[in-house]
Amino acid sequence: MPEDGVSKVCHHDILSYEELLLLARTVVPLGIEKIRVTGGEPLVRSGIVPFLTELSQIPQLRQLVLTTNASLLEGMAADLWDAGVQRLNISLDSLCPENFSSITRGGELSKVLAGIGRAEEVGFPIKINVVAMRGVNDHEFLDFAALTINKPYSIRFIEYMPTQKDTSWESRVISGEDILARIVEKYPLQPVVRGEMAGPSRDFKIPGALGTVGVITPVSGHFCQDCNRIRVTSLGMVKNCLFADTEFDLKPYLRAGDVPALQEILNKIVTEKPGKHLISNKETSHQPFSMSKVGG
Ligand code: SF4
Repeated sequence: MPEDGVSKVCHHDILSYEELLLLARTVVPLGIEKIRVTGGEPLVRSGIVPFLTELSQIPQLRQLVLTTNASLLEGMAADLWDAGVQRLNISLDSLCPENFSSITRGGELSKVLAGIGRAEEVGFPIKINVVAMRGVNDHEFLDFAALTINKPYSIRFIEYMPTQKDTSWESRVISGEDILARIVEKYPLQPVVRGEMAGPSRDFKIPGALGTVGVITPVSGHFCQDCNRIRVTSLGMVKNCLFADTEFDLKPYLRAGDVPALQEILNKIVTEKPGKHLISNKETSHQPFSMSKVGG
């Protein structure tokens, strides 16, 4: 979340649920098997549960996942489960109430933990994403790892990436290897075999633990060759790579209900997906963007 908050946009400029469903019903027959609903924070949008129910009923959609900060999850977990959401990715960068409040600009850790507990009760597999930041939460890595001993959670540490105009971003990055090395000083880790629809994380298990610990390394060991994601913002702009400066506007096609043109532009977007990012190359730069607008 940017320090000065987010700039507001007109209601009319945001894709309606009908437009989002048209998009989903168009991309799934083209071969998209997994949809992840992100944000901002998706649970603050009115009518999210009926929307997810319709989304989950699209034939051929194999996975429907939701990324949330879990602040509202306690009261919504059961409805989300009933709606057909199969998995939750929870963004949680600290287990210390003060540090959590500072990172999230006022968030309440107790609400998040209550939400995670409720989601676990109703049956959700829980994935927790921790953005690893030197000097911010690196003293908490062992606490996160310890959480997996008695909880069946998948905790993934993500290397910090430059998204805003942050010239000192590299000093905040802790590589996946360093994260694992710090954990191994206290807990031995065994590699876990990747599942068929596994994401980009390398996962490990503390022997006897119920959960897993993983690292996602977009900076030190980019996984662009395996990346098959495209992202659609709430304004209908598509990014076929987080760091691509070109965006494609789907809104005219969605508003016109022009499915053949939509299919054509979607094919072009996928075909032109960049081979890899160049974020560590000092000679190149990308337009700054906010993850609160693009989603995870
Ligand atoms: S291709 Fe782009 S979005 Fe995909 S992993 Fe690489 S940098 Fe990230």
